[in-house]
Amino acid sequence: MSNGMYAGEPALEAHGLGMRYRRGWALKDCSFRLPAGRICGLVGPNGAGKTTLLSIMAHVLEPTRGTLSLFGAAPGSVDSGRTSFLAQEKPLYRRFTVAETLRLGRELNTGWDQRAAEDIVRAGNVPLDTKIGTLSGGQRTRVALAVALGKRPDLLLLDEPMSDLDPVARKELMGTLLAEAAERGTTVLMSTHVLAELESVCDYVVVLSGGEVRLAGDVDELLSVHTMATGAKEGENLPASLAHHPLVEYRTSGRQFTALIRPEGPVAGPVETDSLSLEELLLTYLRSPDAPPLITPTAQAQDQAYNTRTVAA
Ligand code: ATP
Repeated sequence: MSNGMYAGEPALEAHGLGMRYRRGWALKDCSFRLPAGRICGLVGPNGAGKTTLLSIMAHVLEPTRGTLSLFGAAPGSVDSGRTSFLAQEKPLYRRFTVAETLRLGRELNTGWDQRAAEDIVRAGNVPLDTKIGTLSGGQRTRVALAVALGKRPDLLLLDEPMSDLDPVARKELMGTLLAEAAERGTTVLMSTHVLAELESVCDYVVVLSGGEVRLAGDVDELLSVHTMATGAKEGENLPASLAHHPLVEYRTSGRQFTALIRPEGPVAGPVETDSLSLEELLLTYLRSPDAPPLITPTAQAQDQAYNTRTVAA
């Protein structure tokens, strides 16, 4: 299936997605869309629901509530595109050699790209005749990524994919991933805790916290609607001149205050304003679970009659 088919279609759209485990709700009323061809970082504290969300998208878990569509179709259906999910625990057969693992990938997947998979393995000097069980954690991750990319997916779901790779391998594999995605228009959704890396990798982000979407959208769009305001403190609260702007976080240090706001109109008063990096923006949202959520227009789920799977509440 070629990605050209999906021009203008979101790769992924969730409406009111909810997931309840025995202990309670891990995802609550998640609605957002991810346009096709984007590389999206999925960020959130431990237990936020990232793995749960990725598992629903990979059709490994059934949501308790809500609907999800992949390329306009129900997950798992022939029209939902090819999805590749690399889970955190990277399940591979320990007794297989690397070559046997790739052969299995070829046998199980039409459209398998042996050359791409082997190139990724060879770039890490992982011998093809080595058993998976004797590889280091990072080498195993490389093989798992080779299998994920060898499937030539339309949607690549990665759960903290690079956490056990050394910095050089990490940079190299991230570069390969990005080049592949750009060349083929692959949509990537990747959970990570490494915020510093996201700026150079992702053009889209979704922040989850407490099972809810707190922030979603195009990175440039998100950065452009936030401003960091600093100035001299007037009492304990935000200065009155800024009070009408939606506030994400207010902090004080000595006689100074810093406020992350979403300006609605000009910012008045004796304050300095500055833009901020993606890492600063994400850190601030992660620190501020009570900040008003923001889902930019391109990330908002549309009310449309997709051929989705609906699960009764
Ligand atoms: P981390 O960053 O630590 O990997 P996460 O954002 O991926 O976390 P999830 O693994 O999706 O979070 O977990 C979300 C919540 O759901 C947590 O409270 C977790 O304890 C709970 N949970 C996850 N899987 C199960 C399960 N199989 N049974 C019961 N509760 C679960």
